[in-house]
Amino acid sequence: MKIFKSIEEFIISKSGLGKLTFIPTMGNLHKGHASLIDIGKEFKNDVISTIYVNKLQFNDQNDYLRYPKSLDNDIELLERHGCNYLLIPDDTILDEIISVKAPSKFNKLCGKNRPGHFDGVLTILNKMFKIIEPEIAIFGKKDYQQFVLVKDFIKENNLNIKIIGAETIREESGLALSSRNNLLTRNEKLIAKNINKVLIDLKDNKQTISLNFINSKIKYLENLGIKVDYLSCCDPESFEESYNINEKDLLIAIAAYVGNVRLIDNIKLTKL
Ligand code: AMP
Repeated sequence: MKIFKSIEEFIISKSGLGKLTFIPTMGNLHKGHASLIDIGKEFKNDVISTIYVNKLQFNDQNDYLRYPKSLDNDIELLERHGCNYLLIPDDTILDEIISVKAPSKFNKLCGKNRPGHFDGVLTILNKMFKIIEPEIAIFGKKDYQQFVLVKDFIKENNLNIKIIGAETIREESGLALSSRNNLLTRNEKLIAKNINKVLIDLKDNKQTISLNFINSKIKYLENLGIKVDYLSCCDPESFEESYNINEKDLLIAIAAYVGNVRLIDNIKLTKL
């Protein structure tokens, strides 16, 4: 795997590279990230990953500063999965960056209590798309709103990039893999698996889905010591609250704090 330690280094070599499949990450890589590389390798393109902890998308400075880092392991994982290129931009990527504003529907769910988060995501991705000019880009559906954000942005701006969504990889307990899981204690990890359990229970009983049902689950999680930021049953495109499972597919999305670690997860409910 060829490693570019700056954007300048990448740009010098770029004309010699073929068509690229792009997988952006913030590092501290796990099997979830690896699955995106594996999906990328199914296409004929070379795969390029980036590792960049994007401070524009953190509204909490502490969260940014303690974001886990493990570059040597990350490089080893990427090599093992056949990633062809790794670009590690430094903060000069922020120089003269053009700010991009996320549409208002992204003020819901994760956008509600993390103001500016999705603006930061789009701003950095817009710059990376311009630098890398990938043919394909792959995103995990664990960050479901981010996946929709990018899909909408590509469509709105007529960019010639195919966006692929990858299913969430989980621990055996059901807990969605996340770099933030490394910040959980053993006991917190045991508690955290209830997040996915609740989603599965809501899905298994989707014919009775309602605000009351959702609220009972919030109470259940809070009794376990989990602080629920949101647990929402909504339209998977507009993120408007909805329980109309007879008419359309729905998304149940959650963000919750276990200790002081913020975790997210979601599950799709198919129309009855
Ligand atoms: P991050 O490093 O958290 O910014 O994530 C980089 C990419 O990996 C994003 O597209 C995420 O949605 C995706 N990702 C993170 N965790 C998982 C997971 N457990 N399963 C699948 N994809 C994931």
